[in-house]
Amino acid sequence: MAAKIIDGKAVAAKMREEARTRAAALEARGVRPCLAVVLAGEDPASLSYVAAKEKALAGAGMEGREFRLPAGVGEAELLGVINALNADETVHGILVQLPLPSHIREKAVISAMDPAKDVDGFHPVSVGNMVLGGKGFLPCTPHGVLVLLREEGIPTDGAHAVILGRSNIVGKPLAALLSRREVNATVTICHTGTRNPGLYTKEADIIIAAAGRPGLISAGMVKEGAAVIDVGVNRVADSSSKKGYRLLGDVDYGPVAEKAGWITPVPGGVGPMTVAMLLLNVVEAAENAANAVSGANTASGARAAAARHD
Ligand code: NAP
Repeated sequence: MAAKIIDGKAVAAKMREEARTRAAALEARGVRPCLAVVLAGEDPASLSYVAAKEKALAGAGMEGREFRLPAGVGEAELLGVINALNADETVHGILVQLPLPSHIREKAVISAMDPAKDVDGFHPVSVGNMVLGGKGFLPCTPHGVLVLLREEGIPTDGAHAVILGRSNIVGKPLAALLSRREVNATVTICHTGTRNPGLYTKEADIIIAAAGRPGLISAGMVKEGAAVIDVGVNRVADSSSKKGYRLLGDVDYGPVAEKAGWITPVPGGVGPMTVAMLLLNVVEAAENAANAVSGANTASGARAAAARHD
């Protein structure tokens, strides 16, 4: 059986269209959703991710405001930029492109952000809300994976989902989201300390590879008919390509596609979903801010009206 290839671009286009419609409704209220993108240094992958995000924002009628800092920027200066963006009412979301230069503490920078503007969902308050089921922004890549599963009609209720990778931005949040009652999967997390991950993946109804290791998932590790979601993006040297490299996921795509029930390609699977979920978070942050202002105006209007009647 050949797997159904999940078209992440098509699902992402639907999400981007939703973001565009909501952004247009805000524009009609005089609010243009704005994401501040903070980038320190010149990491080529980061530069291309930032360019892709800014292009997507423009396509959805939103503003991307870039703050490019030198690789040698001090932590205090970077924290100063974050504080200024927290206070700027025309900025609705803040994204700090990771990784940061090694002399800067990522935790300190992310924690300095106003959680109301944390559209990446990395702030400890956002993570706490995600785990506890409170309101807050969900991290874009794990949320994108969840939406792909839902849109493709891949059953999750009672399914065994095996995640390879336990990073704070992909593996851990995915485990929390998949085990939510409304998703109801049973989750296993594999990492470098896992002896024989194949033991678990062979039993999995859903495999999510997020390790950053090309070829990690071979056909022999996959159960017939399983859904295989490949989050990995690996640059592999390729002299036949103009860029000198090509992108590979963590899954041995051809052989696994012969056996799986569903599979995401790389590129064109999870990647476009990450950007689309970011757009939805930015528009939601702008809606929240606009509603808070109109709510405050209504409340003060009501107080003024009440005062006039006194
Ligand atoms: P990361 O921080 O490097 O974490 C990788 C995780 O994989 C770690 O938990 C590591 O285990 C685990 N791992 C490494 N080798 C393994 C193996 N052989 N078996 C099982 N687990 C293994 O990476 P990340 O930021 O989560 O990203 C993971 C991949 O997803 C990368 O390729 C990245 O480029 C890609 N990514 C894609 C998107 C997208 O939008 N498509 C977004 C984010 C990331 P330990 O904890 O034991 O070290």
